[in-house]
Amino acid sequence: MTSPGVPDELDRLWTPHRMAYITGAEKPSGGYDEPAGCPFCRAPEAPAETSLVVARGETVFAVLNLYPYNPGHLMVCPYRHVADYTDLDPVETVEVAEFTQSAMRVVRAVSSPHGFNLGMNQGSVAGAGIAAHLHQHVVPRWGGDTNFMPVIGRTKVLPQLLDDTRDLLAEAWGTTA
Ligand SMILES: [Zn+2]
Repeated sequence: MTSPGVPDELDRLWTPHRMAYITGAEKPSGGYDEPAGCPFCRAPEAPAETSLVVARGETVFAVLNLYPYNPGHLMVCPYRHVADYTDLDPVETVEVAEFTQSAMRVVRAVSSPHGFNLGMNQGSVAGAGIAAHLHQHVVPRWGGDTNFMPVIGRTKVLPQLLDDTRDLLAEAWGTTA
């Protein structure tokens, strides 16, 4: 008979969702720059359960980052595939701002962060992973949320699965935003 094994004294972090990123399995053949391969163009069209979209506005939407820095790391994106902040029209500019405020209210209501980082990386050289489609990061911060894991191990520990975070925030957006 096979023994189920005796636990040792090490804790394990299981991160199977990282494998697609590590292997590049999800990267489209044409890259991310064209709308056909752009995750921010595709997200609003995907089924609600898989898209990680938390809220939809007239010209912008809020979506969870697939590779979050912290739990609840949201991005506010225009539906239009534009790269530069100056490409936004006046309506989009206002709605990006309003959605950023709503994202902060919702994440505060759900998970009481101590602070936020807000911002846009404009261009690959500035750190944008998907430079062709503008996105405003809303990253909740907690005291002590940067520890040895990201600094030494280049690994971020996330205690909640993305689908669960999405459901939580989408529900709160309806009542809080
Ligand atoms: Zn796009």
